[in-house]
Amino acid sequence: MRWKNAFIPTMKETPKDAEVISHVLMIRSGMMRKVGAGIYEYLPLGWKVIRKVADIVRQEMNKSLAQEILMPVLSSSELWMETGRWQVYGKELMRLKDRHDHDYVLGPTHEEVITDLVRREVHSYRDLPLCLYQIQTKFRDEVRPRFGVMRGREFLMKDAYSFHSTQEDLESYYQVMAETYKRIFNKCGLDARLVVGHSGAIGGKIAHELMVLADTGESLILNCQNESCGYTATNETAEGTVPKTSTDEAEQPMEKVHTPGKESIEDVAAFLNKKNCQAVKALLYRCDDKLAAVFIRGDREMNPAKLHNLVNALEVEIALPDFLESKKESDVVAGYCGPLGIKPDFLFFDITVKDIKNGIIGANEKDYHHINFNVERDCPDAKFYDLVVQQEGDLCPKCGKPMQTVRGIEVGNIFQLGTKYSKSMNAKFLDTDNKEKYFVMGCYGLGVTRTVAAAIEQNHDDWGIIWPRSIAPYDILIQPLDVKDEKVMEITNTLEKDLIEKGYDVLVDDRDAKPGFKFKDADLIGTPLRVTVSPRSLPDGKIEIKRRCDKKSELINVDSALDKIIEIYNSCP
Ligand code: ATP
Ligand code: MG
Repeated sequence: MRWKNAFIPTMKETPKDAEVISHVLMIRSGMMRKVGAGIYEYLPLGWKVIRKVADIVRQEMNKSLAQEILMPVLSSSELWMETGRWQVYGKELMRLKDRHDHDYVLGPTHEEVITDLVRREVHSYRDLPLCLYQIQTKFRDEVRPRFGVMRGREFLMKDAYSFHSTQEDLESYYQVMAETYKRIFNKCGLDARLVVGHSGAIGGKIAHELMVLADTGESLILNCQNESCGYTATNETAEGTVPKTSTDEAEQPMEKVHTPGKESIEDVAAFLNKKNCQAVKALLYRCDDKLAAVFIRGDREMNPAKLHNLVNALEVEIALPDFLESKKESDVVAGYCGPLGIKPDFLFFDITVKDIKNGIIGANEKDYHHINFNVERDCPDAKFYDLVVQQEGDLCPKCGKPMQTVRGIEVGNIFQLGTKYSKSMNAKFLDTDNKEKYFVMGCYGLGVTRTVAAAIEQNHDDWGIIWPRSIAPYDILIQPLDVKDEKVMEITNTLEKDLIEKGYDVLVDDRDAKPGFKFKDADLIGTPLRVTVSPRSLPDGKIEIKRRCDKKSELINVDSALDKIIEIYNSCP
C-alpha cells in the first residue's frame, strides 16, 4: 500500500476528551474517529488491527473445539423477561420498539439468545459438550463511556457459550478456556494475568478475569507479595485478613453521648477524639425488597459484591431515603445507625468490627452515639462475615503474607454459569439415564476492541505506538526520503515488490513531505520495522533500518538488504 492512496489521517493534536494514552494514540494515528459518546468509526489502520486480533481469537477458539456462529444483534424482550434480566440489567440495556410496538434489545451479551437456540436444537447428551461463539458488535448504555474503545457503548466482543451434561465436564472445559485465553493474549503480545473474578449479575459462582496490567486500568488487583504463593484476585473478589489496629485497653462501660450533626465517621470520630478505625461504620443497602444493615470498621470500605453473594438477591444497592422510609418499622436512623435495637431484614457484622475496642456506634437516635461499644460483649449473638474491600497491606488468604495492589484492564473473563440460564429458560436435554436434565453452562467473553486499546497501553512510548508483530496494521514501513530522486524510488520499488512477494504487508510512505514529518508519522503508527531509503546514504550503498522498539537505527548494505530486513523483522517483538 502506498500512503498517498491510503486513508491514514494522522494528526498532531491530542483529542480533548482523551484521558488515556491508547485513546490519544488511536485517534492521532488515524485508527479511528469518534462519532458520539462511546461510538467510533474504525478507519483502515484500526480495522486492520481489530481484524488481526479477531483472527487470533478465532484460531485459538477453533483449536479448542469452539465453533463460530453469528447471532442477531436484535432480540425480543420476551427472552430477557424469561431470565429476569429485562428488569435486572437496568439502564445499561439498550431497548427499542419496532413498528408494532414490540420491545427489543440491542444485545449487550447473548446468554438468553444462545440458550434459546440450544433448547430448540439440542436434545441429547450425545450432542454435548458444545461450545459456540461469535464475534459481534455489542451495545451497552454505559453510565460513563470513556477511555475511547476501552469503555464504549458500541464495541466488538467475542462471546462464547458452552453446554455440558455435568458440572465436571464444565469444569474441565473451563480449564481449556483459561488456557485458550492465555494463548490468545500471549499471541497478541500482551502480558495478561488470570485472576479470580466476581461473577456479578451474570450469575454463577466461579469466575476468572483476564487482566492486562496497566496503570490506567479501571480494575484493582490484589497480588500476594510472596511469589511462590501467587494468589491474585480483583478487589471485588479478593479475600484476606485485615491487620488489627486495636490496643489492649480495658473494656469500659457503654455510654450514650450527644454528637449533634456528626453523621459521618470522620466527623464523629474527630468530635470524640478518636481515630476512624475506632468507630463502627453502618451501611444501609437495599437487597431487592429487603433492608440490610452492615457494620464495618470505620476506616474500611464495604464490598457490595460480597454482600451480593451473601444475600442472594438480584439487586443490591445503597438504600435510598424512599426505601428507608418504607422500612420505618426497622427503627434504623440513617446517619446515626448502630447495631443495637434495630430490626432490619439482615444485620451483618464484618469481621473487622471484632477488632474495635471501646468503639463508637450510632444510637439510632438523631444526634446521638454510644461510646465504649465492644461487639462480643454487647452483641453476644453477633455473627461475623467477610464483607470488606481488600486493600494494599492486607494479608493473603492463602499464605498470610501482605498483598500489594496493581491496576489492570479487564480484557476478558470466563464464568461457570452452571444451570442459572438453563433453569430459568427451561433448557433441558435427555441424559444417559433417560432423564431430562438442565444444561450446565459456561460463558467466555473477550473484548476485541478493548484488547486493541490494552495492547497500546502496554506497547507505546512518547512518540507513538509500538505494535507487536502479530497485530501490527503493517509489517514494514518503507520511507523514501526524497520521492523525486529516481534512485531512491527505484530501490524503494524493488524492496516493496520483493517484500510483498515474500508475504509481508508493506506500507510505502510515498508522500512528498519533509523527512521529519515522515519520521513522526512512522513512530506514531508504530509498524514494527522501518526501512529508510535516503539520498544521503544511498551513494554509499546503504539504507537505514530501525525496529520501532529500538532507539537506534542501523545502516545496512543495499545489495543484501532483503535478507537483512527479514532477519531484523523476525527479531521484532
Ligand atoms: P466491565 O467490568 O469492564 O464493565 P464486564 O464485566 O461488564 O466488564 P463482560 O460483560 O463480561 O464485561 O464483557 C466481556 C468483555 O467485554 C470484557 O472483559 C471486556 O473486555 C469487554 N467489555 C465489556 N464492556 C465493554 C465496553 N463498554 N467497551 C468495550 N469493551 C467492553
Ligand atoms: Mg460492565
